Amino acid sequence: MKKSADCARRVLNVALPEGVISQAAAFHGHLGPWLVLGLKAGVHARRKLAASPFELKARIFCPAGTPYTCFIDGVQFSSGCTMGKGNIVHYRAKRCRVEFTRTGDGGRFHHKDTKAQGGSGTRLRLALRTEVWDELHSGSDEGMAGAARLGREFSRRRLEELFAQ
Ligand SMILES: [Zn+2]
Repeated sequence: MKKSADCARRVLNVALPEGVISQAAAFHGHLGPWLVLGLKAGVHARRKLAASPFELKARIFCPAGTPYTCFIDGVQFSSGCTMGKGNIVHYRAKRCRVEFTRTGDGGRFHHKDTKAQGGSGTRLRLALRTEVWDELHSGSDEGMAGAARLGREFSRRRLEELFAQ
């Protein structure tokens, strides 16, 4: 593996900074695993697609209602795709996934950079892994304290452990 790709992979898998978690929890109202999943997906999209919040669109597929829609707030907070800017849409679905699209050119340097990572550089799909979905329905995140505990644990997990691309 090339050194630059290895470096990029490490950067993509670092745990979320505490500041991001606490600010997102303040924005959303509480800390939980679905919020953290959205945060991780949005951070990854911003880095991978090298896009500003004005160049990115998010399409979220998940069941209607909480706790699933807490994922949407996480994506809004970290990706910059927001209801106010109109660049995020929710579709009802049985499971949870998100598609990010870069709409701008992203600048010459970043365009080259994302191409070098092997993708088209304009689209990214992340689908919540079945085992994570099952874990989230096993009762391990019951109560506010349980949700916060599992949220913190998810924040330290590698992206590939949570989502399939
Ligand atoms: Zn929530």
